[in-house]
Amino acid sequence: MRVVDDIADFVIVGTGAGGATAARVLAGAGLDVLMVEEGPQLKTSERPAQVADAMAMALRDFATSTTSGSYPLPLLQGRCVGGATAVNSGIIWRLPEDVRAQWIAEHGLDELVGERALTDAYEHIERELEVTDTPPSLWGGNSERMAVAAQKMGLPGKAIARNAARCKGSSRCLQGCPTEARQSMDVSYVPRAMRDGARLLTLARVDRVLMEWGRAVGVEGVLVDRETRRPVARFRVMARRAVILSASAIQTPVILRRSGIRGLVGDRFQAHPGCAVVGRFDEPVTMSFGATRGYEVPLRERRLKLETLTLPPELLAPRLPGAGAPWQKRLTELDHYAQWSALCRMEAHGTVRPSLFGGGSAATVRFNPTTADMLRLRDGIQLMARMMFAAGATEVFPGIGGFTPVLRDPSEIDAIASVSLRPQHLNMIASHLFGTACAGRDARRSVVDENLAVHGVAGLHVMDSSVFPTNLGVNPQHSIMAVVWVAASRLANQATSASTLRATG
Ligand SMILES: Cc1cc2nc3c(=O)[nH]c(=O)nc-3n(C[C@H](O)[C@H](O)[C@H](O)COP(=O)(O)OP(=O)(O)OC[C@H]3O[C@@H](n4cnc5c(N)ncnc54)[C@H](O)[C@@H]3O)c2cc1C
Repeated sequence: MRVVDDIADFVIVGTGAGGATAARVLAGAGLDVLMVEEGPQLKTSERPAQVADAMAMALRDFATSTTSGSYPLPLLQGRCVGGATAVNSGIIWRLPEDVRAQWIAEHGLDELVGERALTDAYEHIERELEVTDTPPSLWGGNSERMAVAAQKMGLPGKAIARNAARCKGSSRCLQGCPTEARQSMDVSYVPRAMRDGARLLTLARVDRVLMEWGRAVGVEGVLVDRETRRPVARFRVMARRAVILSASAIQTPVILRRSGIRGLVGDRFQAHPGCAVVGRFDEPVTMSFGATRGYEVPLRERRLKLETLTLPPELLAPRLPGAGAPWQKRLTELDHYAQWSALCRMEAHGTVRPSLFGGGSAATVRFNPTTADMLRLRDGIQLMARMMFAAGATEVFPGIGGFTPVLRDPSEIDAIASVSLRPQHLNMIASHLFGTACAGRDARRSVVDENLAVHGVAGLHVMDSSVFPTNLGVNPQHSIMAVVWVAASRLANQATSASTLRATG
């Protein structure tokens, strides 16, 4: 096989929330950066509106990745330039204060999440990515109904803040924003870093970090064919200063382990799995218009976050109950349904390991929600069912296997409390993934230090959601970007002051 070689000061693996932000900061400081991305670069014009085609193009394993074990929990991840940000809903949340305090008290991360540095990073990012609250004119029928329910029931609902100030309400975040309003990394920090001189190698899957005498000196892997994803050549990229792994909480630990770095790598995997409830309304809801997610009800003390979920009708149809002719009839009134989801800040911890079969970045993920996690989700389903009726729904579909599929009166909701809910009873999905290369001051209890440098290995950093020592209970991309911004700025300062010293010395 052909071998392609290259060299840069900083080699960044992955172009999602973490990798693109690291590139934005380092290239912005005038440093030599090369981004290596397993997925393709997708032009907005070539991203299909059809969901199945769009997912096949932009999501890892055509969105079929799951945890292993008795209950396969689907894991949604982007695999294209921009990573998961190129398919996400653009929701922006700062790190909750209780989580920040816990990271400082229990993990010694005062330097990484110190108030001043983190606030500066948030403000920079919010300005550059045009963060703003979703205006009511873009809520659409789905979010409008959640707002009505929250108000009637005295719940702490609010408009969702997103990095999509110029949103036109196309409801196509998952397929790729057709108007480039959402400032995902593929249309914001990746091109910005490239304007500042960074280079980008796409369809290049990193398999391992190259080490010499305890120092990371580069990465190697395979170039893959855009259509078949089969390897067509090998490549090696050397790093003069550092390798930065930003391949996500699933792939980063796989690369680390395949490079011989173990310890807690791949342990402490955490997530925010969620499930959805659908309601039928007599009048049209018209989910084809509006922000994909425009309104939310955060319930921190219940470890739940409720959000509207305005997905394309192709993904709504399988959520409708029934079969044959009655189901077909429901399809004729698709416009009358609203859909909301509950994310759970689960307490369960799992593991990520390189797959014994599949090679490359294939991973085996083990994760089993605890009984308490399932009780919280049951609480969320009951609450969303009550909210649907409060907003005027005539039917509610709780989406619990083995339980009444259609509720027609709020009095039927109480029975949900007697369901002994198991993971296999729900259609859960997890897209917020954390913890597999956790940060901490104590090398025995963590993988990276407070500068996100791997303990005991020179020239190797992890800058993605793997470094979060706990899950958050809120949408993570903003905190990933902010934490990376802080650590990458420190790295840039070290590199530029070392160059200045060399030049003047
Ligand atoms: C459908 C969906 C909706 C979401 N909605 C929101 C939201 O609204 N708000 C929010 O805050 N969060 C949301 N999230 C989560 C958020 O997008 C992720 O938490 C975040 O993008 C993770 O950042 P990361 O840098 O850790 O990894 P990613 O963004 O996943 O980036 C990792 C990158 O590394 C690349 N890569 C992986 N392995 C290799 C390898 N071996 N070699 C080279 N490259 C590799 C991948 O292709 C990918 O581009 C959503 C996620 C999904 C899937």
